[in-house]
Amino acid sequence: VTDFTLSPEEQPDDRDRALRPQALDEFIGQAEARANLKIFMQSARQRGEAMDHTLFYGPPGLGKTTLAQIVARELGVNFRMTSGPVLAKAGDLAAILTNLDARDVLFIDEIHRLNPVVEEVLYPALEDFELDLVIGEGPAARTVRIDLQPFTLVGATTRLGLLTTPLRDRFGIPTRLQFYTVEELHQIVTRGARKLGVPADDGGALEIARRARGTPRIAGRLLRRVVDFAVVEGDGKITRELADSALTRLGVDQLGLDGADRRYMLLLAENYGGGPVGIETIAAALSESRDALEEVIEPFLLQQGLIQRTPRGRMLGHKAWTHLGLAAPRPGTD
Ligand code: ADP
Repeated sequence: VTDFTLSPEEQPDDRDRALRPQALDEFIGQAEARANLKIFMQSARQRGEAMDHTLFYGPPGLGKTTLAQIVARELGVNFRMTSGPVLAKAGDLAAILTNLDARDVLFIDEIHRLNPVVEEVLYPALEDFELDLVIGEGPAARTVRIDLQPFTLVGATTRLGLLTTPLRDRFGIPTRLQFYTVEELHQIVTRGARKLGVPADDGGALEIARRARGTPRIAGRLLRRVVDFAVVEGDGKITRELADSALTRLGVDQLGLDGADRRYMLLLAENYGGGPVGIETIAAALSESRDALEEVIEPFLLQQGLIQRTPRGRMLGHKAWTHLGLAAPRPGTD
């Protein structure tokens, strides 16, 4: 059984690119973020200035990269993309910054994973569009100041809490992305199916939307797998029955939970009577990294009330017991 939530980042193949919305008006959902961005972009354009630095935060797959690309396109500037772990040395960042044109968008994914040395170099670049670089070593070392073109940094992170305060404070436009509603995902799936040339009827699109964990990336993945079943075993159309049987065969249940989610919840239920259990204990028992659990698995389970975070650890919610088909322990029996 495949884990749709934990599988590594997909290679952005042609079909993925075809599904990516290109303009703000094509982007479904995140109404509040979109409305605000529209104002900030228009204001920047009218003043002829770079838009203020923007931070997108929220669980993976909600559209942070997509929005960053749209911002650049709508501002009519270049889009440069890198990520926190890739920028190992100050010089790596300097090379990118000195090559930016005026008002360009620089996108740094996983910005919470920036090397502290690189982060130090970033501060004056963000504030004054200046770089202070140390050239040479030992007694011969000297600092040179380089003027940069004004630019917009768009940072993305799944872990706002891991950002240092000085870095967080330098974003004028912090924007939280929310899980999508079933209705929004329904629209996204319908549009995606049309783009892939395999039409989905209303019930079929809705079935995929319901099981996509509030996340467009997962909706896209599930849609592509259901398309495979429609092409090979169906008549090339996505109906509710076809979607349901394909998703069930893939191990995606009625709530959209997959094997990884169920292992997490079953561990709490069967080994710990529903908790509380510390996150490190859960990570060790499941052989998952704590980060993967906190970034990928837990946000949706928390949002659905399937688990709760307490100061003493994670606890299984009432809904989870029902969903697992298990009886919750009665209070006072342990
Ligand atoms: P993040 O950077 O938050 O991890 P991405 O921007 O890479 O997420 O989006 C993941 C996938 O979901 C992409 O394939 C993108 O096309 C799709 N996607 C994201 N947001 C939307 C949306 N609002 N409408 C349609 N597709 C979306």
